[in-house]
Amino acid sequence: MTGTLSAETQARDLIVRVGASLFERGLTPGSTGNISVRLEDGGFLMTPTNASLGDLDPAALSRLDRDGRHLGGDAPTKEAFLHRCMYCERAGDGAVVHLHSTHAVGVSILRDIDPEDVLPPLTAYYLMRVGRLPLVPYHAPGDAALALAVQRVAGRHHAVLLANHGPVVSGRDLRAAQYAIEELEETAKLFLLLGAHALRPIAPDEAARLRPDPDARP
Ligand code: ZN
Repeated sequence: MTGTLSAETQARDLIVRVGASLFERGLTPGSTGNISVRLEDGGFLMTPTNASLGDLDPAALSRLDRDGRHLGGDAPTKEAFLHRCMYCERAGDGAVVHLHSTHAVGVSILRDIDPEDVLPPLTAYYLMRVGRLPLVPYHAPGDAALALAVQRVAGRHHAVLLANHGPVVSGRDLRAAQYAIEELEETAKLFLLLGAHALRPIAPDEAARLRPDPDARP
């Protein structure tokens, strides 16, 4: 079992390092944002409720079993359900990151965005790491209907944007989820920077070639 233990220890350390990096770069303020990783036994590590990503303790991370029952560490984030509904629909994904990153939240508040695909195809890296980004309608904090709304789109999208709230992104591992949500935030920032300028986005054929295939299940 030494291998399993050391994999879990490594996952704990990586969550702390990624959390500190996201927080220090201003990508999620205060005690907002949360990170989870799926472990080899099917259970999860998750950041605790009311914890700042800038100041995580590896030993205090919440340990959950495969059904989401709390096994140890501090109580998990109240947004644990967002992570669970991504994992349920995405069997090949091993990590989820949710942030209240300013520019992505800003875009989620704009009135005239396409709810099927919020951001235009501005750069190749955005298309490769994020693809299409659906908007999940606003729900009050704690509303169980939000989980169902996320679950409805998670099968075909590893990145979703919650209206008036923020992005949720899964990846095959924590680095993949981190880099994708950072690309999403930077593209939201670019989009807001460009403002009313006339855009020359990537052509539809090239965009289609670059996007991950939502039907290519691992
Ligand atoms: Zn949130």
